[in-house]
Amino acid sequence: MTPNLQPVGVGWIEVITGCMFSGKTEELIRRLRRAQYARQRVVVFKPGIDARYAEDSVGSHSGQRMRSFQIERAVEIPTLVGEAQVVGIDEAQFLGPDLVGVVEELANQGRRVIVAGLDMDYQGRPFEPLPQLLAVSEYITKNLAICMVCGNPADRSQRIVDRDARFLVGETDAYEARCRRCWDPNNFTPRQERLALGENLSES
Ligand code: ZN
Repeated sequence: MTPNLQPVGVGWIEVITGCMFSGKTEELIRRLRRAQYARQRVVVFKPGIDARYAEDSVGSHSGQRMRSFQIERAVEIPTLVGEAQVVGIDEAQFLGPDLVGVVEELANQGRRVIVAGLDMDYQGRPFEPLPQLLAVSEYITKNLAICMVCGNPADRSQRIVDRDARFLVGETDAYEARCRRCWDPNNFTPRQERLALGENLSES
């Protein structure tokens, strides 16, 4: 949760995490826009490997542009951040362990840092550097999605194509949100095929 009592004169770190389809990026953008409405200087970073976003794609309806950078590595952030008071970072799981020190440095400089990223990979393993970021952050929001099989709250990213890479960049079609019960990292069968096979998914 973000604080009711807003810190004054210090920076802090907020982490927005959860599985795929849990609305992490939407929540990040909502917080950044709200800061922008207050005329705070906002900048947002995304890993360049995420092809879903065009450069400078984050604009607000009020016509204000949010400064947006695609980066390859976390260490680029300090050189680009300028005088921003609020720093957003999306898809943090692609930025590696260096991100932790970078984010701490930004917060120590008095900035509000908001980081969004996946907390688990498709095998349910903690996805670095999110565990480390959760440890050093002041505020944590864990979003849940809705299980595509049974409709329960979902915290897992189910891969539905049989491939080994730790993450399939930009391939949201290759995943479904699943709850703990319906998630199985070794069964790539998508919901539709399971339904076609006659499974009664609501009772499974
Ligand atoms: Zn389920």
